[in-house]
Amino acid sequence: MHTNLSFAERVLAWAADYGRKQLPWQQQRTAYRIWVSEIMLQQTQVDTVIPYFEKFMQAFPTMSALAKSKQDEVLHYWSGLGYYARARNLHKAAQLICDNYQGKFPTNIDDVIALPGIGRSTAGAILSLSFNQKHTILDGNVKRVLARHQAIEGWPGSTKNEKLLWVVARQQTPETNNARYTQAMMDLGAILCTRSKPNCKLCPVSNDCLALEKGRQNELPHSKPKKQIPIRKTVMLAVTSEQAGLLMQRRPNQGIWGGLWSFPEFDSEESALDWCSRTLQQAPRNYQTLDQVNHTFSHFRLQITPISIKINTPIHWVMEADEWVWYKHGSSQVGLAAPVNQLIKQLAI
Ligand code: SF4
Repeated sequence: MHTNLSFAERVLAWAADYGRKQLPWQQQRTAYRIWVSEIMLQQTQVDTVIPYFEKFMQAFPTMSALAKSKQDEVLHYWSGLGYYARARNLHKAAQLICDNYQGKFPTNIDDVIALPGIGRSTAGAILSLSFNQKHTILDGNVKRVLARHQAIEGWPGSTKNEKLLWVVARQQTPETNNARYTQAMMDLGAILCTRSKPNCKLCPVSNDCLALEKGRQNELPHSKPKKQIPIRKTVMLAVTSEQAGLLMQRRPNQGIWGGLWSFPEFDSEESALDWCSRTLQQAPRNYQTLDQVNHTFSHFRLQITPISIKINTPIHWVMEADEWVWYKHGSSQVGLAAPVNQLIKQLAI
């Protein structure tokens, strides 16, 4: 490909032939569908997102359907995708858009950034993909392509490199064709300039790629400096009543698995048992400690010791309390924390 074409022209020409055109959010293209897809795609691979996106759209086909739904329903359709603040923010933002913009996605970038859960790059991506507006994006794929093309040393997420990459990204953003260019950059990062083994032979910007010129395309960009992550321990109590189901508690909106349902947690087996005898007011039968479950978050590792107990009589105050529920597998529509799903399988319920 000719180097006298600009960076954007080369990327656009490549994408016209090889870019992705069959992604579900590229069909019946609306700002609402693009917004949901962009939020799901943060920290998550396209292949994982596709089935979630399709089910989510069936459940909440419009902005107002999402705004009118309950947070529990939204979290149910998000269960397993992780980073649940994304779902809570999506729900909250849909309500704000219905209240303040008659249900139409705002078209001004500052209004979009003011919505919960939308940063500058995501706002730019939604507006350029939906309305062909000129905005620069800098998601993970674009950072990798540009960091290699300019042979930028270090981790692209550092403050210094982010600043530099925004400057480079702005310089490369064309005046027109912004919907196609935004998609093309994402495609280039996902298809050719992949994290490992980039396919430079087919790359439209290989002629002036500095990483390739220096033979450093496999080494750049550097990964995030690793920190030893701490281990936290917890005890989860799975109380089963044959009649009522599994006892679940809603987690506070702040913190891990915010707003999802989970087993009650304790800092030791003794305190779990103490709670049983005080709160359940009956001696547990079939007390059993199950295999430990490990769950890794970005900033710590959680070691869960699950305890299973069975009780004869379901406790009735649960029915009245807002943050407690008797959960029936297969019939209750609530969002569950990932290890809870795993534990339900272990409990064979
Ligand atoms: S030439 Fe290789 S390293 Fe450079 S941008 Fe293209 S795929 Fe990435």
